[in-house]
Amino acid sequence: MVTPTELRDWDRRHFWHAFTQMAEYEPLIIERAEGCWLVDVDGRRYLDGVSSLWCNLHGHRHPRIEAAIIEQLGKVAHATTLGMSNPPAIELARRLAAVAPAGLEHVFYSSDGAAAVEAALKIAFQYWRQCESPRPSKRTYLAFDTAYHGDTLGSTAVGGIARFHDIFKPLLFDVVRLPAPDRRHGDASIHLARLEEALAARHEDLAAIVLEPLVQGAAGMIMQPSGYLRGVRQLADKYSVLLIADEIVTGFGRTGRMFACEHEGVTPDLLCLGKSLTAGYLPMAATLATSRVYAAFVGDAMSGRTFQHGHTYGGNPLAAAAACASLDVLEEERLLEEALPRKADRLAAALAPLNDHPHVGDVRQLGVMAGVELVADRQSMRPFPSHERRGWRVCRQATASGVWLRPLGDVLVAMPALAMSDAEIDLLGRVLRESIDTICSTNAS
Ligand code: PMP
Repeated sequence: MVTPTELRDWDRRHFWHAFTQMAEYEPLIIERAEGCWLVDVDGRRYLDGVSSLWCNLHGHRHPRIEAAIIEQLGKVAHATTLGMSNPPAIELARRLAAVAPAGLEHVFYSSDGAAAVEAALKIAFQYWRQCESPRPSKRTYLAFDTAYHGDTLGSTAVGGIARFHDIFKPLLFDVVRLPAPDRRHGDASIHLARLEEALAARHEDLAAIVLEPLVQGAAGMIMQPSGYLRGVRQLADKYSVLLIADEIVTGFGRTGRMFACEHEGVTPDLLCLGKSLTAGYLPMAATLATSRVYAAFVGDAMSGRTFQHGHTYGGNPLAAAAACASLDVLEEERLLEEALPRKADRLAAALAPLNDHPHVGDVRQLGVMAGVELVADRQSMRPFPSHERRGWRVCRQATASGVWLRPLGDVLVAMPALAMSDAEIDLLGRVLRESIDTICSTNAS
């Protein structure tokens, strides 16, 4: 029997964790989970306050999803989808086309969110070379400050978070960059005027606009003004630039609708999905395309139109079976219509006491996605010095109190699974508040 002490030792020694400074890493080893609770190798329980990094939708160990994976495991775990297919991936493609904003009929599979964005960038580039009236000069992207689209080089190039992306700049292609469309810095018309100016100047080189619709997640739950997304769609059409919507975080109900684009009646040309696609059970991502985009890739085998891009595990049948089961749960339990508005209200109520906390500058929420921004001084909105790492320390404190959270700088994220009970949401809010009290009322240490 391997002991917890051995696991901690091997973990520190051999496992290089993502986005983690290994010099200070304190092993927390999850052995099992149940509902919205994670259980470590010592039997300690933690409420999963961020849906296992924003992907777990129905809680852990959901019988319906487990059964679907196990049933598929009895048939085939993996077979390539290069030049052939499998029933769950076919069914999922059909169902995604049905639930996605109208017009997105074609599904290209990959395994992680970054890969879905990477595929979208390459599809947009290739589209302009072989669409009906080719415009090969259109090979640049317009993206936003503080955007996050993943960590491959293409998705990093369109990202805009200094502490993640700046070091890689020498490796990245140039993009046309605009300030984040943050609703605190102006209404839709102000941000759209800026976008139109950039499009008017650069549309001849621009293949696509890349946007996280409604909310920039990793930036710290930065919310866009209402009407902005609709305006982006209109301007993209006016200037013949494709619109890539990255709904890797916002997809599958997190914002209160199936997809964030629905709030503004928008169909992007390319839609990137990941994370909650399989309810957080298996890695899978997808890039959906309209028929107009897809048509540019169809032709004689020797025409050079084929999308020469793909991944070994794209369209994996186990992951697709999990995704289909998750859609079943969403639809049959009417979660978007019934549970979601209730959970969103409960989360708002649980976070409400933070609205006038002396060290909270802003509480922002859309659906079941929320960000709580810490500040040293509420009046002046002066931030804490970054070296004090208040956000990280609040999360460490919350973990000690049995709630697992992970910060984005000094923004604390609360993103409950749709399955989280009211009492658990209340606990999440209470522990978050107590942890902020403990960490922010003291001097730096
Ligand atoms: N796009 C957005 C908006 C994201 O927030 C993320 C990850 N948090 C990604 C893409 C990348 O997804 P993955 O980590 O699965 O590559």
